[in-house]
Amino acid sequence: MARIKICSPGEYIQGNGEIKRLSEHAAPFGDKGAYIIVDSFIYKNYGQDIEGSFKADGRPYKVAVFGGECCQTEIKKHCAASTSYSVIIGIGGGKTLDTSKAAGYYNNMPVMIVPTAASSDAPCSRLSVVYTESGEFEDYLPLPKNPDMVLVDTDVVAKAPARFLAAGIGDALATYYEAAACVASNAVTMTGGHSTLAAFSLAKLCRDTLLEDGIKAYQAVLSGVRTKAVENVIEANTYLSGIGFESCGLAAAHAVHNGMTVLEETHKLLHGEKVAFGTITQLVLENCPSEELTKIIAFCKKIGLPTTFADLGIEGIDDDRLMKVAELSCADNDTMGNMPFDVEPGDVFSAMKAADFIASGIASPKIGARPAVADAKCTMSLRKLNMDEIKDLSSILSKYQEDFEIMSGKYISDAKSMLGLLNIDWDRGAELIIHRDDPALIKSIKKFVR
Ligand SMILES: [Zn+2]
Repeated sequence: MARIKICSPGEYIQGNGEIKRLSEHAAPFGDKGAYIIVDSFIYKNYGQDIEGSFKADGRPYKVAVFGGECCQTEIKKHCAASTSYSVIIGIGGGKTLDTSKAAGYYNNMPVMIVPTAASSDAPCSRLSVVYTESGEFEDYLPLPKNPDMVLVDTDVVAKAPARFLAAGIGDALATYYEAAACVASNAVTMTGGHSTLAAFSLAKLCRDTLLEDGIKAYQAVLSGVRTKAVENVIEANTYLSGIGFESCGLAAAHAVHNGMTVLEETHKLLHGEKVAFGTITQLVLENCPSEELTKIIAFCKKIGLPTTFADLGIEGIDDDRLMKVAELSCADNDTMGNMPFDVEPGDVFSAMKAADFIASGIASPKIGARPAVADAKCTMSLRKLNMDEIKDLSSILSKYQEDFEIMSGKYISDAKSMLGLLNIDWDRGAELIIHRDDPALIKSIKKFVR
């Protein structure tokens, strides 16, 4: 009888305003206080909330701002600095959380994980993904246990850019398809067991929740509000997907993601955005029915997940480079081997090309919650711009008759006006909404794209 196994964090807590109760949540781990690893952007915006409860309780704490990459150097730095505390708390995005988990493991300390976006399923897992200092996938670091606590403040997550929620949906959408592949191949998961019925049910519930509530949640977050759909999608992206992938296994979708990390152009994309394309590639590899494939591609397009080479920023990629992606995705230490049939690099190469071609032929415009967005020809995610670039963007757009809007979180303003552009919190990035079908215009704005 094969051994089955399900893993989960010690506690999963999701609610409004939980970040203001950090000290209370950290108390059971000991009286030496907390070593807090936090993203710089989050610290800037929520620093008072994070420190407030510790100050009020008189519990010791130290804040360490995350360096930006989950690499060996960063992990070692936090290991050395955290030994005199009772618990490590990681607050921020996937890489901050992975670094916190790895530091907790090496120091044999309890870990509290506080994701500030529902952008991946990393928070609940007993796994850190380690990258090189330049951002290439290095290896998975399996940990002996899951985080002791995962704490999600839904208000904080709902205020994160809608792009993050969409990326989390991309990551979580892969869970069911990869789990199904692992069940079919009787794969051994990273935690050393076969999948349980419970974990596979959660993976299926995850996909069903996303297809039912994903678009509603994306629209709500674009409008700057938290609804029941948002809460459901946060749970799906973080908990259902976390348990589902870890206790069932990963397969082609994540292997293709890892393969794509050799392409410098894709480094600006979020994990779940690349996984979304990996899922479509896996569906092509599996020769899934056209109806299902079209449904998934159309869903991804609606929430702005990349489905084509152009979306990934690798339009016109030459065959040699694409083959490198395919070869890396089939590496021995990756999860392509969990597919229920043999997959060679040539198969992945062909599936990626076919996925790009099929998706290019499916019309499903990205949705927006506002009337101004509804008739948009397209939207573009812009990176942080400096003052000269803001002036440049304003003068490019001013040449056209049509309106342009710039949107960041719940704020929307006139993108032709300097004042409108300066009102945007560029640290969060921004979406430019374009009401004109014009390749020359798109080309002139490409330099500002994230
Ligand atoms: Zn993932």
